[in-house]
Amino acid sequence: MERHGAHAVGDNMTISDHDSLDPRLRREAMIATFRQLHKAAPSYGARAPGRVDLMGSHTDYNEGCVMTLPIDRDTWIVGAPRDDHEVHVTSLNLGATTSFDPSRPDREPSAGWGRYLHGVAAVLTEAGHPIRGCNTVVHGTVPLGSGLSSSASLEAAAATLFEQLGGFTLDPVEKAKLTQRAENEWVGVHCGILDQYSVILGEQGHALMLDCRSLTHTHAAVPAGLRIVICNTCAPRALSGSEYGERRSQCEEAAAFFARRSPGVRALRDVTVGMFRQHVSGLPPELAKRSRFIIEESERVRALAEAFARDDRAAIRDLASASFAGARDLFEISVPAMESMFEAMRIAPGCIGCRQAGAGFGGCMIAVVDDGLVEAFCRAAAAAYLADTGIVPEIYPIRAAAGAGALRLS
Ligand code: ADP
Ligand code: MG
Repeated sequence: MERHGAHAVGDNMTISDHDSLDPRLRREAMIATFRQLHKAAPSYGARAPGRVDLMGSHTDYNEGCVMTLPIDRDTWIVGAPRDDHEVHVTSLNLGATTSFDPSRPDREPSAGWGRYLHGVAAVLTEAGHPIRGCNTVVHGTVPLGSGLSSSASLEAAAATLFEQLGGFTLDPVEKAKLTQRAENEWVGVHCGILDQYSVILGEQGHALMLDCRSLTHTHAAVPAGLRIVICNTCAPRALSGSEYGERRSQCEEAAAFFARRSPGVRALRDVTVGMFRQHVSGLPPELAKRSRFIIEESERVRALAEAFARDDRAAIRDLASASFAGARDLFEISVPAMESMFEAMRIAPGCIGCRQAGAGFGGCMIAVVDDGLVEAFCRAAAAAYLADTGIVPEIYPIRAAAGAGALRLS
């Protein structure tokens, strides 16, 4: 039997950036790698998109609303059953293989990234959905660790493959909750439900207005004539690891402060602007800044949906700029590379509005761009950012994609 543990796979088992964006070449490369590794063809395939927030930074764990967009950068996974209980995974992004036994959920996973899959397998098993042993190959076009939720995309794709192999079907909201639990408990990231919900319940062509308390959504449409462009700062991540947890507990502390003054408050979502103004003088200044950002950002989620519906470009610009200013000055999740990118996007041709994406502290940002000027925008924003920082960014338009589902193998 092969030993458990991470090991590198051959150099030939990667997909070039160019091939990975062509679905046919990507599919062929994944199947060829699978055949080479496992001497047989994969029998199932699943995919899940990444996602980006158009408005609503850090509102998810405050039980608020987010406008979130599943994107056409995604994770693919192909697999076939094994005769034993083990799950073997090769990541073509990392050029590495790991394995684990999901029937022994207490085992330490063999590699850091294996915890995402081991976690999903363990959590599904606990929920009464035993995982069938399998060989799998994974490949993602969502940049890793840049705020576009490659982790949730990987979890959702894996859960979908486990459903196919095990012959069971999860309710989509349940699937989002289970994969979130996998990331919370197995990876130790206390993310809210936003990432998993978006990549599982997304529908082709739509942004979602997600209510993170009721776990329901409505559709929002990006106006025809506008494109969303991802602008990855590609700056080394400045997150020490503690900031996200710290912001979360500050929000909880602020919510508790308002709850003591107004019994209906359970989370910052329930604090109105009026309530905030009335009581803010009693809050320590840092908590006042944090909660003001969440309360105003929640208002901006609603306002952006209305601005999209009216195709009101001036409002889109003002809302996006106010969101970034709040992220920088009140929630303090910006870093110098993000400020450079904001300026580079803002002055590029065709830019209607731009702001941060994901949790902040580097990673990706977004711009809403006039469809006819997307190419000029990408060139100008990249050049301005490079000139200012010396870093080559990745800038590309995206489209709204469907949530997790089966992947055609032929
Ligand atoms: P984000 O979700 O914003 O991309 P995270 O830090 O939450 O950032 O998750 C990134 C991590 O997810 C990676 O460092 C890696 O461990 C794991 N991951 C995501 N996609 C893949 C993949 N295709 N292959 C292997 N690991 C992956
Ligand atoms: Mg993540």
